[in-house]
Amino acid sequence: MSRTNTDLPPLKVIIAGGGPVGLTFALNLTMLVGNKAKITIYEGRWYVNQSGKISWKGADQGNFRRSQVVTLQDHVISQMPDYIQKGLFKEINERVWPTSRNIPIEEVEDRLLDLIQPFADSGWVDLIPENLHEQSVYLVKGQFDIVVGADGANSLVSRYCNIQMVSQGMEYACGVAYNIPENVAATDEPLHQALNCILTVSQTRYLVNSSTSRRGYLNIRLIKDEYDELTEHLRDIKATTTNIDLDNNIHFPHSPVCTIIRQGLQFFKIPSKYVNLIVPIQINVRHAMDFSRELSYQIEAGKKTFKTSLMFLIGDAAMNVHFWPGSMKEAMALARNIFEVITNETERSVQERSLSINDFVEFEGFMGKLRAREQQGRSLRVTLNPIDSAIDEAYSTAHLSKCFKTYNTGLKTKLQATRNRLQQRDEWPHKNHPIIDAELDSAVSRVIHTIVAQLNLALPWPTREMGRGSEVLVEKTYPLDHSKYLPVPTPTLPKSTEQKHVTTTLVNLAEERNVILWLKSSNDVLNNTLIESIEKPNTPLRVVRRYEIYYVDSIENVKSWLEQHKSVITKSGVLFKVITPWYITEDKTAVDVIRTVRSSIAHTPIVIYTNRREETNGALQFPNVMSTDDMYDVYEFIGIDSGTQWADGFATKSIAQPPQSPRSERQSTCVLWIDTEDNDIETADKLRQMGIELKFCARFDSAEDYIKQNADNIRRMFSFKIICRGCYHSENNKNAVDVLKLLDSCKLESIPVLTYTLDKEKLKSHLKQYSRDADLLTRIQYADERREVIAFATHKIE
Ligand SMILES: Cc1cc2nc3c(=O)[nH]c(=O)nc-3n(C[C@H](O)[C@H](O)[C@H](O)COP(=O)(O)OP(=O)(O)OC[C@H]3O[C@@H](n4cnc5c(N)ncnc54)[C@H](O)[C@@H]3O)c2cc1C
Repeated sequence: MSRTNTDLPPLKVIIAGGGPVGLTFALNLTMLVGNKAKITIYEGRWYVNQSGKISWKGADQGNFRRSQVVTLQDHVISQMPDYIQKGLFKEINERVWPTSRNIPIEEVEDRLLDLIQPFADSGWVDLIPENLHEQSVYLVKGQFDIVVGADGANSLVSRYCNIQMVSQGMEYACGVAYNIPENVAATDEPLHQALNCILTVSQTRYLVNSSTSRRGYLNIRLIKDEYDELTEHLRDIKATTTNIDLDNNIHFPHSPVCTIIRQGLQFFKIPSKYVNLIVPIQINVRHAMDFSRELSYQIEAGKKTFKTSLMFLIGDAAMNVHFWPGSMKEAMALARNIFEVITNETERSVQERSLSINDFVEFEGFMGKLRAREQQGRSLRVTLNPIDSAIDEAYSTAHLSKCFKTYNTGLKTKLQATRNRLQQRDEWPHKNHPIIDAELDSAVSRVIHTIVAQLNLALPWPTREMGRGSEVLVEKTYPLDHSKYLPVPTPTLPKSTEQKHVTTTLVNLAEERNVILWLKSSNDVLNNTLIESIEKPNTPLRVVRRYEIYYVDSIENVKSWLEQHKSVITKSGVLFKVITPWYITEDKTAVDVIRTVRSSIAHTPIVIYTNRREETNGALQFPNVMSTDDMYDVYEFIGIDSGTQWADGFATKSIAQPPQSPRSERQSTCVLWIDTEDNDIETADKLRQMGIELKFCARFDSAEDYIKQNADNIRRMFSFKIICRGCYHSENNKNAVDVLKLLDSCKLESIPVLTYTLDKEKLKSHLKQYSRDADLLTRIQYADERREVIAFATHKIE
């Protein structure tokens, strides 16, 4: 009897990223194909809460929830199943702009996660509270039919599949999050949304997007110099205080950029005491060269039989711009394309699943059109039209009284023109709140003369230009009858899913540690310049994952380094990666490096950083090898965030204060020293001067209590290390072996341990007798000199 489509196993879909786009895609797909697809979503910002449910991590789990408010267009939302439309705007359903609704992104994420829950409980969708990474078994072995990169601007999936990103340049901005409580004094009451819209559309320096006027985000476009000045200043202040006080002249002086922020708040009448976060934003405006790709996996080692899987990029992973309203369309387009392919299989009664990129050419075309329409025709029209000239002119002429009068009148006229245009529109949602001239004049009078000049000179939002041409609609490429959406299933698997979540959380809590081996060639300027930028003290890099970099200078040394460190770098929780230039010596290239590394540790992810990309094609036949000349790709590979649109920012001393993110505290190294401080005061002082945080426990048992009680916090720290004595004679001769056993029992096996002793060799032979566990013994490092202790604490494991 021949097989029919019903015998086909469910389509295996892996999604990296459970942000707005990943969840929208998963929901649309599961509601179209039901149990014909098994969907697994990986999301590193989730955790399992006390009642066993997947939830968004909050401050306690080291995550700062996103405070931005986004505008979602009606024509996009109307394409979603009714279930999502209603569920998404369940709590907040506010029309601020004529054909869209404003909603905090945190709310979008909460609602979508709630909405997917019944599908997870029914076993159609698996929610995994972890990041997908280069060494995840799924990726390495190709255990999927489709992998979808919905993992945001620094997409792992695009890197893994070696998709080239095209950068359109950097964009600089500053986000100011605020939260004005109910029942404040009349003078602190926020402006009406109608007025916010008019003030926003009239110029391109400031933009307010808020939910009910009270909770929102003031976006300020900056030029590069302003961005640099702001970042440097905030970092300096943050080094001396926890929360920045906007009303304190030292924290927030009358410098050009602080003035711009203060004035933005004035213009929109946002009391500074209700500001809770300032986020300098730097965005690499870029898009992928391809949005889909075929991946070939060898089914059996040594045999020439291959399996084809497909990769797709959607959302910010596919294209990244500051205000990007199109990304949900991509999620729906891809879900519908997959639905069509599965339906075709049904109609053709296929014997075996064989996915081909040819089934998705429409998706590639749809993405291309969307990029042209939304990125080039809409967002880039504003973002690549810098405000620099308006700013320059304003600084040089605003103080002249004649000019000021002109700017003042000009700005008022501009505001009135915008008001008249918006209020005339039939669908203007604030008809019952007409804005009078006095309200516009009052906004102008709230700001100083240079800002009046800048706002008058800055172009208004080119809404007409941006609206020209027809929208790229999902339904044009993928018409869909809404009755095709399946009903929400009744949960059948609550017990087993709960169990599963609990087990995966253990993996999730063990923080990833990236160990990078960098083959450094003395005459490779490109690599060396990048290394310098990373190693520079006080470098303004935002580290998002713990990393350690080790440098070697030849392929032979790569080999011996791997032999020496194999037991450490193959441990769970350690992500081992390699960076190499293309040319190593006259007769050796990165291909030789790949062979050497992979013969020792298969599947190691490798980046070739070179400006001779055209020569590297031979190396790219190896999976999980990427070649790039973009330093941001390398940053992301290491664990450094380059696009900071979701950066934690700088908390302020606000009345409506959000909780502090422990993440910012994780950037420094903390050393637990199991000894009394008096034993080596000089070394301790030296380490503190170098910014190392020291915690002393005089005895082994007090250190044991400390580690057990703080295991969760230690896992979240950027870098945590232990220094111990050779032996704790008064405590049953406890020593470094016992420290390691203790760490293992607390799932902290990646923490480095150094013994500081008078005689290294004697201690080594003593510990060899004490324990036969060779693995444990190789993890112990030894020092008998201060410089070695300092190198351990400040640098890396030798
Ligand atoms: C200030 C501001 C205003 C904006 N305004 C608007 C607006 O008005 N309208 C609008 O539509 N859009 C707006 N946007 C853009 C919009 O917020 C983004 O386009 C949207 O968040 C993109 O969603 P995403 O799911 O693709 O990416 P993200 O939201 O970045 O989500 C990616 C997810 O993937 C996870 N992840 C990353 N790596 C991995 C991995 N390896 N494994 C597993 N998970 C991973 C991340 O934790 C994250 O949750 C705005 C953005 C900003 C910053």
